[in-house]
Formats: sequence, structure tokens, C-alpha cells
Amino acid sequence: MHSLGKRSWLVAALLLATTGISAQQALTAEQLIAKMREAAGIVPGPNTVDTIKAGDPQTVVTGIATTISPTMDVLRKAVAAGDNLIVTHEPSFYNHLDKTDLYPNDPVLAEKLKYIADHKLVVFRWHDGAHAHQPDFIMEGWKAKAGWAEAHREPGAPMLYTAKPVTVAALAEQLRKATGAKIVRVIGDPKLVVTKIAYAPGAPGAERQIKVLERDDVEVLVGGEIPEWETISYAWDAQQQGRHKALILMGHYTSEEPGMDNFANWLRKTMPGLRVDFIPAGEPYWLAH
Ligand SMILES: [Zn+2]
Repeated sequence: MHSLGKRSWLVAALLLATTGISAQQALTAEQLIAKMREAAGIVPGPNTVDTIKAGDPQTVVTGIATTISPTMDVLRKAVAAGDNLIVTHEPSFYNHLDKTDLYPNDPVLAEKLKYIADHKLVVFRWHDGAHAHQPDFIMEGWKAKAGWAEAHREPGAPMLYTAKPVTVAALAEQLRKATGAKIVRVIGDPKLVVTKIAYAPGAPGAERQIKVLERDDVEVLVGGEIPEWETISYAWDAQQQGRHKALILMGHYTSEEPGMDNFANWLRKTMPGLRVDFIPAGEPYWLAH
């Protein structure tokens, strides 16, 4: 390539870079979500819950806020930061499908919907895609947060981690410190020494949690949440039968929130020039003494 050709190539590259950035800034929520999915290699299935839950898809995106749950405080922080596309892992309106007609006269729901409308926010759920991405954004986020460098996962299986011998009480305390959680609930003998740990976050249901606890290569399951009469009673019975099993419940949001921080980092790398904030929702509980 002669020098003139090289210079015009440089000019062209510079122009491309400039238009690339301004084009990115002018993306609508709908376009940005499509671009994000494409970059993540996610083709949404027909029954996916990953849809826009509120707001106008044609809104030009000024910034993205990722979160585990779009609580009122998360929405306020996003507005203060100048982010108008909220990408949430979990529902916005207190049910899995985000139906807004279940409680037609509810003041809490009405105020939340009004806040989103008044501030022209767009709320998009990124649940199925976050887990389907290779590697799973949520699993990877936990791995980093818990410091489980050698944790591994087979497709469709929980993430498995082999620790140096540790008591269930010490493990729960380690994870509480690592996540900054206030409340970690444990079922089982606190003095039980374990090495074989499984992580299955969120609310996968009792059947999946119990099948994880049945495995010979699992002594303790680190999970999110479940009703007391399901996996909690199972783990309680296992303890009362003297079995080498325990259950650590981090809380649904605590167990998955690091994944949305991980996803925000990926977005920044994948779509440079885009404003991306991870806004932690934190924990809804406090401890009564
Ligand atoms: Zn999840």
C-alpha cells in the first residue's frame, strides 16, 4: 500500500470509528437489545421471559443500568446516573411473567409504573439469555465473587467446587463476608466438615435442589431460596438422620446479583462507548435481635 492509500485508509478508519460511536449513542432500546443478544450469541426462544416489561422500545438509550431487581431505589439511582435502559435479571412487577393487571388497584405497583413512565425508562428482563450465554453470566459472576477459581460446571448441572475441609459454619461465614450479605440461612450441623460444594442459585425449585443434594459428589448446596416445607425440610430431615448434607441459603438476589455485575463488565468490553452501570439492589432483609 503506498503512502496516500495508507493515509486515506487511516482517515476512513477514523471516520468509521467516529460514526461507530455516534451510531451507538443513537441506538434505541430495541436496537441495543438486539445488538446485545447478537453479541452474546442468544436467539430468544418463543416462551422467553426476556422481553421489554415497561417503556417505549423506540427510546434512544442514554445509558444502561444492570441490576438483579429494579427496586424503587435502583430506578432512582439509574435516573440520577442518566441511565434510561434498565436491564434486570428478575421480574419488575412481583410475578414471573410481569403481568401488570393482577392487582388493578394496588398503590405500590401504580407508583412504580408511574415512576418508570414519568422518567421515560425502559425496563428489559435479561434472565434466560444471562443463563444461556456460554459461560453463564450468573455462574461466572458467583465464581469470581466467592473466589472459587477451580469451580467447574457441566451443561445442565450445578456448579461444583471442591474446598479444603471446612465446617458448614465457616463456609457460610466465608460466603457471607464475600457477598456482604446480612442474612445467610443454614440448615444442617454447623460443625459438619465438608469439601464437596454445589452452587445452584436463585429459585430453581425443590426438585432440582433435592436432586443436587442427593448426589454423592455434593455435601452442601449453596442456593438462593425455597419454601420451608420443600428443600428446607428435606435438608432438616437429612440432618436428623445423621447424613452428611447441609443447605446454605444466601437469598435469591444475593445468590445471583454478582452475575449482573459480571454482565455489566462484559457489556462495557463488548460495546465500548456505551455508558453502563451495575446498580446493586442489595438485600431486602434485616435481622431482628
Ligand atoms: Zn437467574
